[in-house]
Amino acid sequence: MLRTHIEAGDAVGRNSEGLIKAGKLAPDQLVNDLIRDRLAQADCQEGMILDGYPRTLNQAKVLLDLVRTYGFGPVVVHLVVDHERIVARLSGRRICPLCGTLYSLKTNPPKIAGICDLDGTKLVTREDDQEPVIRERLDQYEVQTRPLLDYFRQQGVPVFEVGGAGATPDQISNTICDELRAAGLAKAGMARDRAEAGVLSVSDAGTRN
Ligand SMILES: [Zn+2]
Repeated sequence: MLRTHIEAGDAVGRNSEGLIKAGKLAPDQLVNDLIRDRLAQADCQEGMILDGYPRTLNQAKVLLDLVRTYGFGPVVVHLVVDHERIVARLSGRRICPLCGTLYSLKTNPPKIAGICDLDGTKLVTREDDQEPVIRERLDQYEVQTRPLLDYFRQQGVPVFEVGGAGATPDQISNTICDELRAAGLAKAGMARDRAEAGVLSVSDAGTRN
């Protein structure tokens, strides 16, 4: 979501761009305002999946108030992935500065090393995929985001820890749905298709694909 604002070059984008490049998290006030606007839109009225958010205790408190105002029963799914795997995966990403196509040196390499398949442009590593920036983001995750799991548990929100490594996105998605069903938190016929679930991505930090 923030990336959309940055690409649009609007005020929100300009405010957050420098922070993201430095591996810092976007300020709470900015993110809370974004979420408040986004949850009010029509496609969120049946529920929503928030990916990579909240990141801080303040954001979590604001979010919990919001979703309770809307009458939703929130559930937290924590995807557990070893940090070294995240560093290896993200630092292996390359992007074409011309057309924006993403490559992964390991799982989706270009046909010719370092060159975009589509237009022959030299690929680059995005600033927030540089290893020091990734490590800074993971450090912030430990300090700021991990205590959120305790907070949500204290607030009576069900928290599921699901292994996020060594499985395909579909397998992980099915595991999450199965666990929710087993806990009586989802209907038997719940859509497995993310497209039907209204996926909402707030920030690309940390564990994005
Ligand atoms: Zn290209």
